[in-house]
Amino acid sequence: MAISRTHHHAFLLPSPGMGHLIPALELAKRLVTHKIIPKLTFFYTPIANSTPSKAETLVLHSAIKDNLFDIIQQHPLDLTSEFDPHASVEDKIAILMHELPLLFVSTISTMNLNPTIIITDFFICQALPLVQNLNLPMFAFSPTNAWLVALGLYTPTLDKQMQGEYVDEIEPISIPGCKPIYPKDMFDMLKDRTHRLYREFIAACEGAALANAIFVNTFHELEPKTLEALGSGGISKVPVYPVGPIIREPSPRSPSPSPSSDDGKRSEIVEWLNRQEEESVVFVSLGSGYTMSGEEIKEMALALELSGNKFVWSLRPSVNKAGHDHYLTAGDETGSTSTVSNVEKSDLFPEEFYRIQSNGIVITDWAPQSEILKHPSIGGFVSHCGWNSVMESVSCGVPIVGLPIFADQMMNATMLVEEVGNAVRVKASPSTNLVQGDELAKAIRKIMDKDDKEGSVIRERAKQLKHLAETAWSDHGSSYSALSKIAL
Ligand code: UDP
Repeated sequence: MAISRTHHHAFLLPSPGMGHLIPALELAKRLVTHKIIPKLTFFYTPIANSTPSKAETLVLHSAIKDNLFDIIQQHPLDLTSEFDPHASVEDKIAILMHELPLLFVSTISTMNLNPTIIITDFFICQALPLVQNLNLPMFAFSPTNAWLVALGLYTPTLDKQMQGEYVDEIEPISIPGCKPIYPKDMFDMLKDRTHRLYREFIAACEGAALANAIFVNTFHELEPKTLEALGSGGISKVPVYPVGPIIREPSPRSPSPSPSSDDGKRSEIVEWLNRQEEESVVFVSLGSGYTMSGEEIKEMALALELSGNKFVWSLRPSVNKAGHDHYLTAGDETGSTSTVSNVEKSDLFPEEFYRIQSNGIVITDWAPQSEILKHPSIGGFVSHCGWNSVMESVSCGVPIVGLPIFADQMMNATMLVEEVGNAVRVKASPSTNLVQGDELAKAIRKIMDKDDKEGSVIRERAKQLKHLAETAWSDHGSSYSALSKIAL
């Protein structure tokens, strides 16, 4: 017997990490504020022996303050018990993908709650076979794009068909109906087929195939070909619905769209942006966790100097310059928002960094990224192409200079340049493995310079996408209608 919409209670299980937490919280907010679902419980999972970053605490506190849905904090997940304390990041992600679904099932069974709908992050759909016996509608939510979902759902087939490592292939890897994937762009979880992470990814994708539907943070006009391929029943046996862009928006109860403990800093940034000319400022941000080495900071500073543009730079330097062992994570207590002139001389920053001091703002804390991108003075975004950043940029009509680093970012950058048309990409020099400042400056000038013909086409496309993104989430738009199917 179907449950009436007014009685639904959805359980939402996100993956940890800001790139998953932010869109999952936004999805929860939209389901409730758009009255698609009357009641939702969000399962947050801290990691044992690890303090949540200030940014993570702030997004969660802002959701608690909004009080739109319940948040249950699960027992901290221990990622070190099976392995030695020096387990690699890949080992830890594999443990997380395996253990988190088990923890979720044990939380459900020990609590006296009656969900009527289960939603899990696409990357932990190992949970779905475990809750199948509840006989409830189950959904997967992918915070990444449809192309990566297509690759994931097709991976069990690739795994049977192909020998050797995907990254060693000469020819691009075919997925029926989709853009082929260059081996060098391959998603990180598929780079080593002998690793446990690869098996966990396949298990997640096989779990997703049990869902009633898969919701994807994209919209039709952004990935028409891939969505058509997914919809034809060839790659996916279950419906795949684009429900994006799901990006951080101000909620009705808390007007602040980004988690910052310091409104003073935010207004300092906004006031500075208000004084700049329209579309004259470049925003630089390489995501929630990546830390830049001294050499990378030097090349970026050189690029900003050569391009001559004003800038806002969300910058997390590696503390030990050469490596990534110790660093300022997003929202560390050590972080701060500073005009460049206020950043104290330190060997964290190369000389080039101080030469551009009067030209911009540097934020070494958590930047209010979605708010910055919305500001009319922003004309371009130097981005690592994390999918949330891409969706925020698309929603604001800002063209991208793609500087992908790892994970799905290379695929995303390729898609934006070769299919979507709202970006240019800069590649590292093969000899130094570094993106050179002069190359980066050329790319920035291309999207910022009003006289650049190729750049004009890219800027126009970015503006067109903004309009299409707004339409997708308008009252009866495609993404809104697709998400409403959850309660039918
Ligand atoms: N973000 C932010 N301030 C920062 C850095 C990142 O608000 O200083 C947000 C950004 O707006 C996006 C998310 O963190 O919503 C990063 O997700 P993305 O998928 O772009 O990259 P990831 O951090 O997962 O690599």
